Amino acid sequence: MIRIYSLFFSLFLVTSCTNENKENNLEKQNEREYLTLYTHRHYDSDKLIFKRFEETTGIIINVVKASADELIQKMETEGNQSPADLLLTVDAGRLVRAKNKNLLQSANSDILNSTIPMHLKDSSNYWFGLTKRARVIVYNKETVTSSDLADYEDLVNEKWKNKILIRSSNNIYNQSLMASIIANKGIDSAKVWAEGIVNNFARSPKGNDRDQVKAILAKEGDLAIINTYYLGKLINSKDSNEVAAGNAVGIFFPNQENRGTHINVSGIGIAKNSKNKLNAIKFIEYLISEEVQEIFANANYEYPVNKYAKSSKLLESWGEFKEDKLSLTKLGELNKKAVILFDEVKWP
Ligand code: FE
Repeated sequence: MIRIYSLFFSLFLVTSCTNENKENNLEKQNEREYLTLYTHRHYDSDKLIFKRFEETTGIIINVVKASADELIQKMETEGNQSPADLLLTVDAGRLVRAKNKNLLQSANSDILNSTIPMHLKDSSNYWFGLTKRARVIVYNKETVTSSDLADYEDLVNEKWKNKILIRSSNNIYNQSLMASIIANKGIDSAKVWAEGIVNNFARSPKGNDRDQVKAILAKEGDLAIINTYYLGKLINSKDSNEVAAGNAVGIFFPNQENRGTHINVSGIGIAKNSKNKLNAIKFIEYLISEEVQEIFANANYEYPVNKYAKSSKLLESWGEFKEDKLSLTKLGELNKKAVILFDEVKWP
């Protein structure tokens, strides 16, 4: 009898222990912390960076990929049911748009405030620049020398008639460049500038930034306005025609004697409805750490925003340049005016 009792007792102990283990495991699973990141980036280096973050913090990054405009649209549609914790996108114009659509929330962090220069983040901390790109002039090395060039404003000169290649005006990079000219020169001067550029078009705008450089190689024009990282992509491309196009041009940073070259950022903001704000801040702080900045920026031939991080050999070979310190928030604010102006001057 005693034996039977003790058997029952042991059985009871075993079952209750297993149940306890199950509960513990379940609790641990529920304890697992997640961050859902909406991003347009699709680089292997990003995966590596996220994995390292997961290993050091135990916080899992759920990545949702789509184009930047689709992600903003998705967040809008999802409203307060949105699972997004973070939105990672390019161009301050888009980040300002997300903020204005009430899709982001402000985040306060001493690390973010002290590391990211003022002009590269939202003044109320709704978004933060992570990597920088400059919108530069590239020129045919056979027909143009750098001494022929100076400012964006000089591109309206008669000598560049039928020589300028640039993509269409529905592109955010051009809208932001135009917004920077409106901010710096006023709307009337900006309009005169835009008319002058249209007058000097080598062809009606088509293709992306890379296509403009290929058109220089094909002798369709002598100058193109492009973002710096596209030159890095061309030079390092697997496609020999792209490499040839990249090597056919020289790079010129305009407006060095005055306000500096127009720049923009790839940046991140915390989603309005994120329930994991502290971890989201931790993630952004991680992305701007020296070590991660070097990987993050170099993967796309961009400049780090953390001044202690090194940029790649290629970017270093282009030399230092003075950047326009205009607050990037302005680019978003002036976006509508830029779009209207493009329309008025019939820049397709
Ligand atoms: Fe781009």
